[in-house]
Amino acid sequence: MTRLFSERFLHALEADELALLETTRSLCRETIGPNAQAVAREDVFAADTFALLVEHRIIATAFPRRFGGSEARQRLRIRLIEELGRVCSAAASLVTGADLSCRAIVAGASDAVQDQLLPALCEGRIQAAFALTEPGAGSDVRALATRAERTREGYRVSGRKKFITRANVADWYVVVARCVDEGASASEDDPFVALLISRDAPGLTAGPAVDKLGWFGVPIAELAFDRVAVDARWRLGAEGEGFALAQDALVRARLGHASMALGRAMGAVEIAAAYCCERDVFGKALGAHQGVQWMLADAITQIEASRALVDAAAASYDRGDADAAVQASMAKMHATDLGMKVCTDALQLTGGRGYLKAFPLERFFRDAKLNQIGEGSSEVHRTVIGRDAVRRAGEASIERHPCLAPGKLTTDY
Ligand SMILES: Cc1cc2nc3c(=O)[nH]c(=O)nc-3n(C[C@H](O)[C@H](O)[C@H](O)COP(=O)(O)OP(=O)(O)OC[C@H]3O[C@@H](n4cnc5c(N)ncnc54)[C@H](O)[C@@H]3O)c2cc1C
Repeated sequence: MTRLFSERFLHALEADELALLETTRSLCRETIGPNAQAVAREDVFAADTFALLVEHRIIATAFPRRFGGSEARQRLRIRLIEELGRVCSAAASLVTGADLSCRAIVAGASDAVQDQLLPALCEGRIQAAFALTEPGAGSDVRALATRAERTREGYRVSGRKKFITRANVADWYVVVARCVDEGASASEDDPFVALLISRDAPGLTAGPAVDKLGWFGVPIAELAFDRVAVDARWRLGAEGEGFALAQDALVRARLGHASMALGRAMGAVEIAAAYCCERDVFGKALGAHQGVQWMLADAITQIEASRALVDAAAASYDRGDADAAVQASMAKMHATDLGMKVCTDALQLTGGRGYLKAFPLERFFRDAKLNQIGEGSSEVHRTVIGRDAVRRAGEASIERHPCLAPGKLTTDY
């Protein structure tokens, strides 16, 4: 069977990686795709989908080998997530979410804590959620107000976290807070600290699931911390490293969001194109009209270009390039903005049917929006990329454009 979208990115994968991709494709064809509509009917945790992803070792791709994982390259993970995103946002989100919450544990936990938690997380026996956002700190993450007061044994945490995916099913939370001395008032200079906090810690309350527009199957909830005692052994990294640990996890999650958005966009075009072949209007197939062909041409070309950008960003991360984080920002911004546009256009191409709850594009359209908001909104990434460009352009080491004469642009021209 052939596909509408190019398979050229598969040339970068090894035989065992291709085998896992093929497993994922079969699951999407036989189970995850056909069930996606039912999963998205109610916003309750997609436990069966999660179990399937665990059983087929797709969740394991996020974990190091010594804890039972396969430590997959990002170049493979983006292909798996794209495949899942093509049919079911919840499935794709479970794969990006597992990585986001375990990454800080892999990077910052002691050996004893890693041995205790990572095998169980990899096998899906327990879950962890990533708790960064607060009522007063979303895009402006440095405005975090959750306090981790130093005590003799470790910390006492007070504050609130908002919009936390799977907060109501997770057993552990990776919480980023500001570290302060006991009784001291918080200041901007207080270091960030990342802590692992168990769901049953006294003083911690996970709220009920909060109604949202899409991404059903991965509910969100709030967390409230009322002087929650956390032993120092649960700290991830050193005091002051909390923000860096979170950023490292977020870079990977951004590649995930980008590939999920592109997978969904590919699926939306496939569905719209099928409709265009079947539907007759004004005496010929909808797809035989030039205006429709141009819409499809734009969508397919832009998706292929964005897939190349995301693939390059993933390769950059795998190599450990210094600019991998900015590359991930470009990939995330471009792919998720494009994903929203493509899903909107695909729904338009399918007319009234596209607007029906029974038709998958209504779900794709609602789900597309979150990729532009979560893991750093498009505006935040635009700011990151632009700031980086201006910084580099001003560096003394930057190559001067050969068409420019020596001297100062402002005075010598
Ligand atoms: C379904 C869902 C799941 C989520 N899961 C998690 C999770 O698991 N863990 C977690 O920690 N967080 C999670 N989040 C939170 C998410 O990361 C934040 O919503 C996101 O970072 C944006 O923050 P905010 O909502 O506070 O928006 P705000 O910071 O209030 O921003 C509002 C708007 O203003 C724009 N904006 C902000 N600053 C600028 C600027 N300087 N210039 C121009 N525009 C600007 C933003 O892009 C945005 O569009 C989730 C959110 C949702 C909706």
